[in-house]
Amino acid sequence: MSEYVNCNLCGTDDTELLFIKDDCKIVKCKKCSLVYINPRIGEERRREKYRGDYSLGYIAKEASKRKRARKIIKRILKFKRRGKFLDIGCSAGFILEAARKKGFEPYGVEISPHALRYVREELKLEVFEGYLEDAVFPDSFFDVVTMYNLLEHVSDPTRLLIEIRRIIKSDALIEIWTPNIGHKRAQRMGREWPNIISEHLYYFDLESLRKLLEKTGFYLFKNQFTFKDGLKVYVRPK
Ligand SMILES: [Zn+2]
Repeated sequence: MSEYVNCNLCGTDDTELLFIKDDCKIVKCKKCSLVYINPRIGEERRREKYRGDYSLGYIAKEASKRKRARKIIKRILKFKRRGKFLDIGCSAGFILEAARKKGFEPYGVEISPHALRYVREELKLEVFEGYLEDAVFPDSFFDVVTMYNLLEHVSDPTRLLIEIRRIIKSDALIEIWTPNIGHKRAQRMGREWPNIISEHLYYFDLESLRKLLEKTGFYLFKNQFTFKDGLKVYVRPK
């Protein structure tokens, strides 16, 4: 069962076809330039994908992922030194582990059973199983929220960001990483760009991500393109 959606950023349904890959149509909104898959597979089948082996590849790269997590926390410490730290789509929990070591209070949200088992048994961290909206965290609760390779997977990024806006403190820091379709490598490779996969429902560039953040109550105060063809942004609530 597939589902047809309007543009998540501006709400219209007026797109041009960029290309087709593995039966997925990648379209671009003519009004706001957001790139997304439409139509896409339905919620149940999407969730099924993450129930399978999805996180195993990530867990297998344990050593390098831990190193990456330590670097991420080191940078976050320049902006925030303590408080409640939420990683959405925390996978095996390496970010939370590194945050805990530096004195943050870790919270995670994850749907993959393999990742959940690892984070609970190996790292002894209790994380919420499900989607962020189902966790129903209190208002103004978090000091730091991170999302690494998550936003491109969610079915309704606007709704997710509005929920994040509700649960963060007024001086919170948010860090987001997502593939950058505006990168020259993505532009050159087109449909062969490795990030074009059926799990990635949305493809942001700096402009569309900035617009989405502004629409949902945030502003982007720092961005970097330093890691391969990804987009890394630091964000605060308006
Ligand atoms: Zn649009």
